[in-house]
Amino acid sequence: MIPQAKFSKTLNHQGFQVVPDYHMHTPRCNHATGDIRAYAQAACDAGLSEIGMSDHSPMPHGFDKAWRMDESELSSFIAEVQAAQVEFKGQLSIKSALEVDFYPGAEPYIQHLAAQHNWDYLMGSVHFIGDWGFDNPDEVAKFESCDLEQVYCDYFDVLGQSAATGLFDVIGHPDLIKKFGYVLEQPSSRVEAAEDAMLAAVKAADVVLEISSAGLRKPVAEMYPREGLVEKAAALHIPFTYGSDAHSPAEVGFAMDDCLSVLLKYGIKEVATFRQRKRTMMPLKVITG
Ligand SMILES: [Zn+2]
Ligand SMILES: [Zn+2]
Repeated sequence: MIPQAKFSKTLNHQGFQVVPDYHMHTPRCNHATGDIRAYAQAACDAGLSEIGMSDHSPMPHGFDKAWRMDESELSSFIAEVQAAQVEFKGQLSIKSALEVDFYPGAEPYIQHLAAQHNWDYLMGSVHFIGDWGFDNPDEVAKFESCDLEQVYCDYFDVLGQSAATGLFDVIGHPDLIKKFGYVLEQPSSRVEAAEDAMLAAVKAADVVLEISSAGLRKPVAEMYPREGLVEKAAALHIPFTYGSDAHSPAEVGFAMDDCLSVLLKYGIKEVATFRQRKRTMMPLKVITG
């Protein structure tokens, strides 16, 4: 059956199949709408056969607590995912996952989280440099007074550290630092070197990068990561997952075709899927004729 969602028409036009959307949230993070059922139904309506519920994980010591579930909610979150898995069985595969914040020092807590459940995958994301929540609209002013080149270098350094911990299966939205449009006109040699060091850490840890359509909905109006970074990752044979970072059911599968086009442009012909933290590659089947 031909999927009805608007993006899927383009998908068919370009000849790609739909792939799993591995990044979506629930109201438990306090900044998303729609329950898990609604995300699952939206995925089915769009013709997807697999999604991952990857809400913002709890973090210790009240870290950024307004933007995530509390640890006391973790078991309810897991139960809701399991209930949806039963309800949509045969229609939609629903992976149980978390988007976990990484900052140096969080490792023991992340190990604790990993042991709480038989997760399908854990996505590591960097939203903070030190105590600066650089993707928080309330903290955007800091970009005006910072050394942008240094900020980019610091960001990629923390992102590389997140991969090197070996605690994550996927690294989320790998150049989120550009979200508000504070972008260097041309990545400087220092920033290129910081990107390369991050990619080397990702490769050494055998971790996957996410290509995310969320940036297209933000001031930067670009997917994460930038094409030049996809190109470098492709040269290293680093695998990708696709994620919409949906914070409402309507965003499920957002701009999937654009993301897959970029992967294909750089010779990436498969995406990673996970089951109980084991990776399997799914080919992008190009439908001809
Ligand atoms: Zn969020
Ligand atoms: Zn995120």
